[in-house]
Amino acid sequence: MKNNNKKYDVTVIGGGPAGATISTLLQQQEHRCVILESSTYPRYHIGESLIPHAFGTLDRLGLLPKLRASHFPEKHSVRFVSQSGKESEPFYFSETIEGVAAQTWQVERSEFDQMCLDNARENGVEVRTDIKVESVIFENGHAVGVRAKADDGEPYELRAKVVVDASGRRTVIGSKLGLKEDVPGLKKASLWSYSRGGKRLDGIDAGETTIFMIPERGWFWYIPLPDDMVSVGIVASPEYLFADSDNFETVFLKEVEKCAPLSERLANATRTESVRGIKKLAYRNRKITGDGWVMIGDAAAFLDPIYSSGLFLALASAELAAASIHEALTENDVSAEKLGAFTAPLQQGVEVIKRLIFAFYDPKFSFGDFVKKYPEHRGALIDCLVGDVINKDMSPFLQALDEMSPMTQLNIS
Ligand SMILES: Cc1cc2nc3c(=O)[nH]c(=O)nc-3n(C[C@H](O)[C@H](O)[C@H](O)COP(=O)(O)OP(=O)(O)OC[C@H]3O[C@@H](n4cnc5c(N)ncnc54)[C@H](O)[C@@H]3O)c2cc1C
Repeated sequence: MKNNNKKYDVTVIGGGPAGATISTLLQQQEHRCVILESSTYPRYHIGESLIPHAFGTLDRLGLLPKLRASHFPEKHSVRFVSQSGKESEPFYFSETIEGVAAQTWQVERSEFDQMCLDNARENGVEVRTDIKVESVIFENGHAVGVRAKADDGEPYELRAKVVVDASGRRTVIGSKLGLKEDVPGLKKASLWSYSRGGKRLDGIDAGETTIFMIPERGWFWYIPLPDDMVSVGIVASPEYLFADSDNFETVFLKEVEKCAPLSERLANATRTESVRGIKKLAYRNRKITGDGWVMIGDAAAFLDPIYSSGLFLALASAELAAASIHEALTENDVSAEKLGAFTAPLQQGVEVIKRLIFAFYDPKFSFGDFVKKYPEHRGALIDCLVGDVINKDMSPFLQALDEMSPMTQLNIS
């Protein structure tokens, strides 16, 4: 058994963007952090589109110079294309954000995640890849460390004052403690792939995310990536997607062909990868903190990719949780109550995003009609699209949303 007597302040399960962020920020405050990551980096990951409000965290991590020097396409806006091919005006982030922060990036995740993990290392975090955490050690209900296994079969036991679950969709703690559950009313599946040579728009629109609507409130994303690559994915109810076939390739190709404005963009493109998919996207945990432990990023919850909020929430939850952990360690009190201080502002922001996700899937709702009826809320709508939802009173906007798309009448599957 390795490392029995090494003691850390914080052990982080998973070296994705959430795990790399929290450990970097805590290490910057001189808390001794170790990341245990099961994969060999760089590793593939879905989720390429950042939203602008990640800017502050990326800045505090010191990643902006690296992003600016990268080959990642700059993203300035989002545009929606209806089933008939009618295009909305782009929602430019500069409408509500001034200066350089109004722009973000479309990232190839293997590279972006490696950048985040290298940055954690450069900040003094001990990073160990190819080590899978198998269980969390609890003593008297209090998390005190983890048991893990290296790829070569070597068992590890690491002790720490706080265990952070940043294991993404695997949700190590949530799965072990039986905390993981469905999100009522949100039952979507996704299929996606990559092509080279898809059509690019001109100028600052070249890096935009385009959302193509399909029947029954399903949609495609079209995300330009480096080297003339494009990420294309569909999100819809599993009943719609898999009505005739369970075969990912068959379903994906049929849906691309049916969506004329998207097929047109892909007319000269060559697909470079097979189709990947997830049949059940959304989940959450009944609680995300306990004595000696916290969950962040996808380990805590995942709702839906529509607003590209996953990476932003991974970074935001990591930063908020880092502040709570710092205070808890400083005061030598790592109780659930102390560690959980970050959950209220996070939850409030997540609820706003969730409300807008439900509106998006409401057949009676459309962004165009909404901004026509409530021009005064266009800014708040863009705030949601850029991720400016945490520690902010969004109640007038939510009230208007509820008038057009009442939660009580929604029956979303
Ligand atoms: C179809 C789809 C489309 C999406 N599109 C977008 C998008 O456009 N924009 C966006 O922002 N987000 C998007 N997302 C969401 C985004 O991918 C995630 O929110 C983001 O990756 C979360 O980061 P994370 O660090 O929490 O988890 P991850 O990035 O998943 O990192 C978790 C890490 O933990 C490691 N791990 C797992 N188990 C263990 C273990 N037992 N021991 C050690 N290590 C372990 C994994 O190997 C992984 O490296 C999308 C998601 C889906 C499903």
